[in-house]
Amino acid sequence: MINYKNWKIVSHKTRWFGNTKMTINNDNDWRLQKQEKYLFGVKLSKKKYQKYSENWDHDHCEFCSVKFIETKSFKEYYATEDNYYWICEPYFNDFKHKFNWKV
Ligand SMILES: [Zn+2]
Repeated sequence: MINYKNWKIVSHKTRWFGNTKMTINNDNDWRLQKQEKYLFGVKLSKKKYQKYSENWDHDHCEFCSVKFIETKSFKEYYATEDNYYWICEPYFNDFKHKFNWKV
């Protein structure tokens, strides 16, 4: 049984679960959990990171837990219209067909 809360990210496609190193392949996509319940077919826009509310300080990618904070950088990510869900570019590219996202 894998505890998904305790993973250590190595790269976009590799991570450690305790002592087990896992690399992604097509039959075994452990990156997907329940995201299709709230992200399937939604409209996403590419934009600079903006906080969802003033009491918020950062967000994480819905798939890989990469952290987003407001900076002066012009790097853009994919987000739902309300800025609630954020997705990094590599994961957006991997899952755009599977999730049927509209951009
Ligand atoms: Zn990500």
